[in-house]
Amino acid sequence: MHKVPQKQSLKGKLYCSVFGHNFQVSKKITYHVKEYQCCHCKKEMTTNSKGNLTELTPKYREINYVLKRIHKNKQKRFAAQALKNAPLKLSS
Ligand SMILES: [Zn+2]
Repeated sequence: MHKVPQKQSLKGKLYCSVFGHNFQVSKKITYHVKEYQCCHCKKEMTTNSKGNLTELTPKYREINYVLKRIHKNKQKRFAAQALKNAPLKLSS
């Protein structure tokens, strides 16, 4: 049995310890909060409440999940309001 993925991630970790992580946005939670993943070692980071990058722990994953749902609902409500107000704005 070959365990290629493990070998690759180890190589990635070595690469990152030498050159540093190469984080790319993996998920957009809100305008300000995003999740990032290193394309070499798959390490995940997220934006915390202070706007700094922190490791994406299960706790932060949960927070982000809730944040995303709230954010989506807000956008929906905003869109519905905009639609409601649109005819008024047009006639005046
Ligand atoms: Zn990395």
